Amino acid sequence: MEKIYKRIFILTGAGISAESGIGTFRDANGLWNNHKVEDVATVEAFEKNPQYVHRFYNELKPNLLEAKPNLAHLCLTKLQEHYKGQVDIITQNVDVLHEKAGSKNIYHMHGKIDEAICLNCGHLLQSNDDVDMSTICPHCAMAGFMKPNIVFFGEMPLYMPEIEKKLRECDLFISIGTSGVVYPAAGFVHTAKYYGAYTIEFNLEKTSNNYLFDEHISGKCTETLPQFVEQLIAVQENMENENGY
Ligand SMILES: [Zn+2]
Repeated sequence: MEKIYKRIFILTGAGISAESGIGTFRDANGLWNNHKVEDVATVEAFEKNPQYVHRFYNELKPNLLEAKPNLAHLCLTKLQEHYKGQVDIITQNVDVLHEKAGSKNIYHMHGKIDEAICLNCGHLLQSNDDVDMSTICPHCAMAGFMKPNIVFFGEMPLYMPEIEKKLRECDLFISIGTSGVVYPAAGFVHTAKYYGAYTIEFNLEKTSNNYLFDEHISGKCTETLPQFVEQLIAVQENMENENGY
């Protein structure tokens, strides 16, 4: 791994937020904040009872917004600040912990808890307050069209063309705290590896698509990631010194 990478693709999942105390609907009982996934995270549920779905996200929002980034989030920011190559963060999480950690180039492929989208005009509303069917869109001035900017089951994840491009171009692919079972994210490593990237997985345990990774690092990412990031930065500095930059 003694090389300088030009483009680093970092995929983050629930595991990185879990260490900031954020649970997910993939926890053991299959519930999210005691709600069934099919009642609050599907297109059908929203069409049937939008107020109920809004209430769920309005209740979830303060918890997610209050959470604090952990050492794993912070060391990704450090990598972005100190590494000369491009470092992109593609997250499956809807919390804003990467933003709070000061990271940039963040792509929320499953949406973001502090945003709603107007289904009438497409306006993206950023709001830390409650949003529901009575919220008036600041762009088209209509009420009754706001949907949480959360990618529901049955919907296409966001930024897929950009993500595909980045997967083909990256030379280092890092997966952090993802289960490896939720598509399309679970397939990202295939694409990155096919186009020649070195692939590393950070997770509590080995995932089912573990064989696609060149390296697997087990453990809590707050414990494993800092050392790895320091090493990447150190390798870059050493090689630059050797080459007389
Ligand atoms: Zn609108």
